[in-house]
Amino acid sequence: MNLTDRVVVITGGAGGIGAALARRFAAEGAAAVVVADLDAGAARAVAAGVGPVARAVGMDVTDEEQVRTLVADTEQRYGRIDLFCANAGVSTGGGVEVDDAGWDRAWRVNVLSHVYAARAVLPAMLARGGGHLLMTCSAAGVLTAVGDAAYTATKHAAVGFAEWLAITYRDQGIRVSALCPQGVDTPMLADGLAAGHLGARVIAASGAVLTPDEVADSVIAGLAEERFLILPHPEVAAYARRRA
Ligand code: NAD
Repeated sequence: MNLTDRVVVITGGAGGIGAALARRFAAEGAAAVVVADLDAGAARAVAAGVGPVARAVGMDVTDEEQVRTLVADTEQRYGRIDLFCANAGVSTGGGVEVDDAGWDRAWRVNVLSHVYAARAVLPAMLARGGGHLLMTCSAAGVLTAVGDAAYTATKHAAVGFAEWLAITYRDQGIRVSALCPQGVDTPMLADGLAAGHLGARVIAASGAVLTPDEVADSVIAGLAEERFLILPHPEVAAYARRRA
């Protein structure tokens, strides 16, 4: 996929990776970039920085009705959605001691929201015979996030769901990619460090933390090649090749 004249939606669009994707998609010539986030004010600030093609929407990806409304409003306003980036995500930190509320939150934001996104966008994409879903998963979906059990389990589920979608709909023009970064310099990593999470400390000490713009570079390359797994960190890509 090339981004020229595309209509793109990014959830978690006000976060580190989401904002970098929004800026990059606009720079690549997207016709519309919808920046959707729980933090409506931050989404407005990102959209203002991206420019006139961007539109901010405050919404919660764990509420299916709000996901449906986001998709329906975008399709009505711009005629279609070419690329939907299910990018919002959360990390709880911690192991088996994380309580049910923490596991539930990780499941709802990291996995169930991807199901809601697919349910909402697939009908129009299938009717048009094409579309692309980019699911932001994590390297924690193909290997283990030290010290973060719920993140590892839910990101594995997210990669599994994305692969199921890719295989099920590939003959109907639907492309699906699973973006799997390992450590990226964003508020999520900073918050994990501030909370003393083991996983965030290990990542920060690894010397392999990428900038969100470097992740956006990998996404552009991955979309152009219609790659399923987009692995911005070379060492994760090497591991995945060995495992395969
Ligand atoms: P971030 O915290 O900067 O951004 C996440 C964004 O998601 C925030 O703006 C937040 O408001 C939004 N969000 C959270 N819950 C939401 C909800 N219910 N509805 C709508 N929006 C919601 O983090 P980031 O690093 O940019 O993370 C983006 C994605 O990348 C996540 O899926 C994350 O798991 C994944 N990821 C991040 C890293 C990393 O090291 N930063 C590594 C691998 C994967």
